[in-house]
Amino acid sequence: MTHKIVLLPGDGIGPEVAAAARAALEAVAAEHALSLAFSSHDFGGCAIDAHGDPFPEETKSACLSADAVFLGAVGGPKWDGGGPRPEAGLLALRTELGTFANLRPITLFEGLEALSPLKPERVAGTDLLIVRELTGGIYFGNRQEGDENATDECAYSRGEVERIARIAFEAARGRDGRVTSVDKANVLATSRLWRKTVIALRDAEFPDVELDHVLVDAMAMKLIERPSAFDVILTENMFGDILSDEASVIAGSIGLAPSASLGLTHGGLFEPIHGSAPDIAGQGKANPIGAILSAAMLLRHALGEEAAAATIERAVSKCLADGVNTGDVGGSATTQEVAQAVCERIRAAA
Ligand code: ATP
Ligand code: MG
Repeated sequence: MTHKIVLLPGDGIGPEVAAAARAALEAVAAEHALSLAFSSHDFGGCAIDAHGDPFPEETKSACLSADAVFLGAVGGPKWDGGGPRPEAGLLALRTELGTFANLRPITLFEGLEALSPLKPERVAGTDLLIVRELTGGIYFGNRQEGDENATDECAYSRGEVERIARIAFEAARGRDGRVTSVDKANVLATSRLWRKTVIALRDAEFPDVELDHVLVDAMAMKLIERPSAFDVILTENMFGDILSDEASVIAGSIGLAPSASLGLTHGGLFEPIHGSAPDIAGQGKANPIGAILSAAMLLRHALGEEAAAATIERAVSKCLADGVNTGDVGGSATTQEVAQAVCERIRAAA
């Protein structure tokens, strides 16, 4: 069976890191006898330039019929004036794919402890996954805006909580088997529904997964006190927005961090968490590891190719431990050199 992968390289460093991710996917496909078919499409700022639309019809239909979508990065100062915005394409893409779950692993790689702003003894061994609900809660509730009073409504349904919790429990089964659900159940009605629903789902379908609950204020503290204490962190939209930004600094460089956005009817969208970084675009300075690890998540979550995903992740760990790094991680290698080093280790490992 051939897996169809759509590449949206995008803007700035997007094309550079997307090329690295593709190289890693091709290397691992050769080793694991996978058949992958790639097609690249305009998206974001470059699509505005070429078609006047950040998310052209042709790109949309390619994404919808693909098994997975890989995105580099979009945006940049060129499109910050008036006119259509690249980021609007991203919102439309997420809506089209129906992605409601955002997965962000935070891994402190061996040998990179000194990069973290936290003390080495606090961060050593950190390997956690934040599972954030993306389409509900206060960001999507009714809003009333006045000069004297304003209201933002926060709403969740049991079904919305259940489907995101299921993704967290399933992810935990492939990891340490532990989920920490984060809410504010001492104050918020939505959080009490959240907690009740998460417990019921665990009891009914995931009795093998360990579950505990932490209030979001306490979690903000614990996350930097001892991030290694956590495995899967499950939370709602706004809390996840805040906690995932907090957690993203733990591992040291934004260039290292991958993400996945998953839905029920499509394989999903996979992208590094960094933006288009126009300051370093076109110079071979971009760290491709976040993109390459996003490609590993694509194999795991969209294609069910766990062994191939693990091969990429092991190759990345080796590469980092061997000191083949871009400048943001204190090395002097170029984007291509890091990609090449990862590919060599993929071939050696499989
Ligand atoms: P966004 O585009 O998400 O709104 P932003 O433009 O402020 O955010 P990024 O594009 O992620 O942020 O980049 C912030 C800075 O981090 C960049 O200026 C760049 O120096 C650095 N950076 C980002 N990604 C990488 C990377 N892959 N490798 C090395 N440095 C990076
Ligand atoms: Mg940016």
